[in-house]
Amino acid sequence: MTNRAYNFNAGPAALPLEVLQQAQEQFVDYHGAGMSIMEMSHRSAAYEQVNNETQALLREMYGISDNYHVLFLQGGASTQFAMFPMNLLAPDRVGAYVMTGSWADKALKEGKLIGETAIAASSEADEYRRIPALSDIVIPERAAYVHITSNETIEGTQFQAFPDTKDVPLIADMSSDILSRPVDINKFGMIYAGAQKNLGPSGVTVVIIRKDLAESSPKTLPTMLRYDTHAKNNSLYNTPPSFSVFMVNLVLKWIQSKGGVEQVAELNRAKTNLIYNAIDQSGGFYKGFAHTDSRSMMNVTFRIHSEELEKQFVKESEQQGFVGLKGHRSVGGLRASTYNAVTHESCQALASFMADFQKRNG
Ligand code: PMP
Repeated sequence: MTNRAYNFNAGPAALPLEVLQQAQEQFVDYHGAGMSIMEMSHRSAAYEQVNNETQALLREMYGISDNYHVLFLQGGASTQFAMFPMNLLAPDRVGAYVMTGSWADKALKEGKLIGETAIAASSEADEYRRIPALSDIVIPERAAYVHITSNETIEGTQFQAFPDTKDVPLIADMSSDILSRPVDINKFGMIYAGAQKNLGPSGVTVVIIRKDLAESSPKTLPTMLRYDTHAKNNSLYNTPPSFSVFMVNLVLKWIQSKGGVEQVAELNRAKTNLIYNAIDQSGGFYKGFAHTDSRSMMNVTFRIHSEELEKQFVKESEQQGFVGLKGHRSVGGLRASTYNAVTHESCQALASFMADFQKRNG
């Protein structure tokens, strides 16, 4: 029996055990090649197959039309914060941002370095405890795009529905909830996500971008920072993060084996609600950070009335095999990240631990 922690890390985060075991089997000798995938040329037929199949799996699982490129880039979601305005924010246009928390704020800061920006809506006055009402979103004239963060990893909030931005492309940072629920990607101009939460290990960033947008980059933009470079070269312009893409491939097949995104969303709801129920049934001992209607199914953020007790909670949880429950340093408190690969059993164990901790300290 493999000794696996109850892993609630925010990212890098838990991967499915089956996927790790498959990777282990193929680690030294990839399908009889006498070498691992890491040791192969990225121009080899074997790697090209992995690259193409991984794109095809994403297209199939999300129902993405031919009107989009699926790209595998490097530099994390943080590089995308700068790269999409570099490509899409022309000098006479405005980049509009919906401010929902720490990651939206980072995206806006980078946008400001590139061009003119505007805030389309914000919940900052509410300490980013909720997603602004879609009806409060104001799209400025001359908007090049509207940017949202579909799931705020630190505050633990998540868009439950997406704004209709009409002709203005909607761009979403889906780093912490990609493939956790069905989403019609064809309504977006572009989405992007670092892989290290729901898709695989760190090292690769998935970008799905409408073809016309990928072709609109300014001529002076350096080669590696242009979406059209990667689109024209099937994400093989330079050496790709081949092992990470290979792992994403295995994770996508694992999601498929669970029945696809809709089934995974149901499993996520069931397991994450075990933790929300533990909060809601605690009579106020645990307090959720996010407003109920903005709660994330990926990151559960909560507090206990004293910081001392929070520290004790983390310490005791670690002694009992739980990992990653300390909240992000910017908001404090506690956080359980329940990405796709976090098991129902882990969430059940956490809910029991929470009830037990409350009994002893309430
Ligand atoms: N956006 C969100 C929503 C995130 O959660 C993170 C990582 N925690 C990032 C962006 C930054 O991603 P990366 O570390 O891949 O640059």
